[in-house]
Amino acid sequence: MASKFPFLLNFSFLKTMRSFFKKETWSDVISNVMPFSKSGKKKPLELPSPRTLNADEEISKQYQNHSCSNYMDLKMRFRDVGRMNAIVETLGRDFLTAMPEGAYKSRLGQISFLSRRLHEDLASQEVATLIEKANTHLHKFPDEWDEWDTANLHEMEIMYRHHCKVDPELMEKKAHLSYEGRRRHRAVLRDNDWESAKGFLQEMIDLQREIAESKCLADNEHDTDAPYQALMREYIPGARLDDVDALFSDLNVKLKNMLPQIIEKQKTEAPAIPLSGEYPADLQLWLNKSLLKVIGFDFDRGGLYETGHNPVEGGTPDDTRLVIKTSNEGNFLESMKSTLHEGGHGLYIQGLPRTQWRYQPVGQDLGAAVQESQALLIEMLLGRKKAFFEYVSPRIEGLFQDFGDQGMSADNLYKLKTRVKATPDRKSADEVTYFFHVDLRTKLERELIGGRLKVKDLPEAWNEGIYERLGVKPKGYADGCLQDVHWFVGKFGYFPSYTIGHAMAAQFYAQMRKEIQNIPGLMRTGDFVPIKRWLNEKIHDKGRILRTDDLVQDITGSSLQSHALINHFEDRYLTAA
Ligand SMILES: [Zn+2]
Repeated sequence: MASKFPFLLNFSFLKTMRSFFKKETWSDVISNVMPFSKSGKKKPLELPSPRTLNADEEISKQYQNHSCSNYMDLKMRFRDVGRMNAIVETLGRDFLTAMPEGAYKSRLGQISFLSRRLHEDLASQEVATLIEKANTHLHKFPDEWDEWDTANLHEMEIMYRHHCKVDPELMEKKAHLSYEGRRRHRAVLRDNDWESAKGFLQEMIDLQREIAESKCLADNEHDTDAPYQALMREYIPGARLDDVDALFSDLNVKLKNMLPQIIEKQKTEAPAIPLSGEYPADLQLWLNKSLLKVIGFDFDRGGLYETGHNPVEGGTPDDTRLVIKTSNEGNFLESMKSTLHEGGHGLYIQGLPRTQWRYQPVGQDLGAAVQESQALLIEMLLGRKKAFFEYVSPRIEGLFQDFGDQGMSADNLYKLKTRVKATPDRKSADEVTYFFHVDLRTKLERELIGGRLKVKDLPEAWNEGIYERLGVKPKGYADGCLQDVHWFVGKFGYFPSYTIGHAMAAQFYAQMRKEIQNIPGLMRTGDFVPIKRWLNEKIHDKGRILRTDDLVQDITGSSLQSHALINHFEDRYLTAA
């Protein structure tokens, strides 16, 4: 079994540490600090030369002077809010990857405190006044504002409005409950314990509703579903429920029609051979790290961690620690899927314009829908292509010493990842039925926030909903309404991002195919460079210079529609031999 503490037992690590400590003797250290020569004469103190900024920092737009002094003030305030946010993110990454159990309580306190502070700084009256004055300057002297500064000011205003009516107490409680919820979820899932889950979910929903209602005050929205829309906008800025409804009902009709055809077609084909080997966790981790390197993930600014926690996207461009659950030693495809998904998020985060706009609102990602588009593009669109398995298959045969096993052939791996079968479980769902899982959760969370569904009635509504959509019944709560961590960590309004992101990924990919020649050929040789470059240039580098709708229109020449996703399903599941 692999050691829990590889660092302590690893001999070469100890050797490195020893030579590190030996490198400088104490007297070397002293003589470097003390301004005396060996003869005892005082040397002129050698001051370090002024810190040389690297080229990126020198021209950083974050610090570049602007004729509007109010905007300069705002840039510094938002830099500090961004820094606090990065500290919260980093504390959260550490919570998931390295924190000793005994630090749990104090860490919750630290994260909640900082979340409150950053909220107070952001939602202050001074910020409101500065934004107003900067806007006046922008209208008076439009030539002095380039598109990045204009977009940055606009994003500042949106962030301010998003927070201004929410009581800091609520934000503190939200941060606390979200981190506590991660632990609660593990416990109720392990014990299939609906009774404890019920009380916690009720508390979380009450809090979310209170926050949402405050946000509606700022937007002057009073529709019954306005609170849910306000929560959704935290993840998908500017999204409108009407547009989400239109996309979902379109996909509902098309996929209900397509699903039986796919299942019928697959019935006529030879079944996939199930994986039957042993795939040690340390080799899986090695494989997954290698795949991340292949897609271009930068390990100087990130890493991959197996934590037992549900995967969670996030981190900062300078510290992108990807989190996946513990590997299943009977099926390496599970951890590979999570790695590719989180890797897609990671490429986006690392590709943001950090040197120019680090911490500024315009330098951030566009929220969960675009995030999920990047994750699903790598995980599902590319990571389930036959060409990808043609690249992977011979390598994993060698890695797991499983030569000549037909189950490890590219054809079989492709088949395993493209079988369509209704199951109650979202995370192991295939690419086609995945939509119905998201559709169910979106409907239920909207009703919970709108007060039309009571928490006590959730299990029944869940079971009915999944049966109605996919004809399957969960065995218990753990593969039913307790399976996802999202509601336990307060992510109400996140689920639609998966479907919007999937449709967006398909639309981006359709365009990418027009602009990059022979993508399967590149993938067969493990050459992801042109793909990563395309994503960097078209999406990641852009931060928030464009709103999501404009980005999709700009890249693909059309607004977000369902047709690219439907075409992709047709190609992969109905046309391909
Ligand atoms: Zn994701």
